[in-house]
Amino acid sequence: MTKLADYVFTPEPTPTIPVAGSDKLFPVRRIYCVGRNFAEHAIEMGHDPDKEPPFFFQKNSDAIVPPGGDFPYPTESSDVHHEIELVVALDKGGTNIPVEHALDHVFGYGVGLDMTRRDLQAVSKKMGRPWETAKSFEASAPCSALIPASELGHPTTGAIEVEVNGQTRQTGDLNQMIWKVPEMIAYLSRLFELRPGDVIFAGTPAGVSAVERGDLITGRVAGVAEIAVKVV
Ligand code: MN
Repeated sequence: MTKLADYVFTPEPTPTIPVAGSDKLFPVRRIYCVGRNFAEHAIEMGHDPDKEPPFFFQKNSDAIVPPGGDFPYPTESSDVHHEIELVVALDKGGTNIPVEHALDHVFGYGVGLDMTRRDLQAVSKKMGRPWETAKSFEASAPCSALIPASELGHPTTGAIEVEVNGQTRQTGDLNQMIWKVPEMIAYLSRLFELRPGDVIFAGTPAGVSAVERGDLITGRVAGVAEIAVKVV
């Protein structure tokens, strides 16, 4: 028998996302997020979408809120925004992955919310500081169940939208993504060693706006998945 590791305390459990239509769980290793991947959203945030290569930030893996979970309004902010995003889950890793092989690394897709302390992000941008406190706080990554690509294929079009209390806030289409899924996997794999369990939040369309305690956030990528999260 293998000797059990002699940890000084019991390690935290691995964060997971359920797989739709099964009782399997996808273990999350890292969460990468793509910034300004829809032109209209880049413009609404005050940037020129034509000038930038893709850029990335991370959230902590334990920021995942699985389906059915609530979003606790975070501390130290009074301007918390929803960003509805396609979630790409990888079950194979690699470095320098060619674009034409990138989709072979995808286990499946879901829809998630890149919750953002917009007020803290504005300060970080102004001061040239990192985005962690704006992006990587507790419960900042609510996510739907994952749909395996073996069932779904690899979506490249489809409405991506979000409502708050039934009122439309964000609308767009996956076909408006500046950097496509294979391109973002290839690009990321030149900067990081990707591993099974890595997930990518693929950027948000225009219409980001603030939520309050008591709000119900509903959203979807048409043909992929839906999400419903209560702000508590
Ligand atoms: Mn985002």
